[in-house]
Amino acid sequence: MNGADDIDALLPQTQCTRCGYSGCRPYAEAIANGEANINQCPPGGAATIAALAALLHRDALLLNPQNGIEGPLLVAVIDEERCIGCAKCLPPCPVDAIVGARKQMHTVIAALCTGCELCVAPCPVDCIAMVPARDIAPTPSENRMRFSSHTARTQRTAQRYADLLNAKKQTARQ
Ligand code: SF4
Ligand code: SF4
Ligand code: SF4
Repeated sequence: MNGADDIDALLPQTQCTRCGYSGCRPYAEAIANGEANINQCPPGGAATIAALAALLHRDALLLNPQNGIEGPLLVAVIDEERCIGCAKCLPPCPVDAIVGARKQMHTVIAALCTGCELCVAPCPVDCIAMVPARDIAPTPSENRMRFSSHTARTQRTAQRYADLLNAKKQTARQ
């Protein structure tokens, strides 16, 4: 039996959540545990299904249309004229591909963008569009590495806030 590591290695690592899981790794674990089928990942499409089928000695299935369709690789673009600098697009980006600070115009670094679309809905002025990627797309292993850095950074930030809060509580008790 192949484990989640082997399965995860075949997933695109966009972290888009379209499979119904919070990212590629949770979906890989669900497949490994027999809780999810191999046809739930639109970014991976037929090629990923075929690779998973070969790994797990199963029949290849058609992509589950409820999760979306397979399409060309997309990249996010911000209309900088309309951007109000609210920074709401920053936290959802799994690979820190958006640069900008509060009250400043934001920009997507196209070469880092996984095309996950997670930044689109939070934008209050709808100034983020998904367009066909023109540059060479990041590889799944690059996506995984950047997601890992992003996760480590957000965990450090959360820990720092928790420590600050605790320190304030301690001071208030004295
Ligand atoms: S890339 Fe595929 S496996 Fe990863 S989160 Fe998106 S749909 Fe799920
Ligand atoms: S810029 Fe948007 S589409 Fe690109 S990786 Fe970040 S959240 Fe996903
Ligand atoms: S969410 Fe939209 S308006 Fe806000 S910083 Fe991002 S691109 Fe600009």
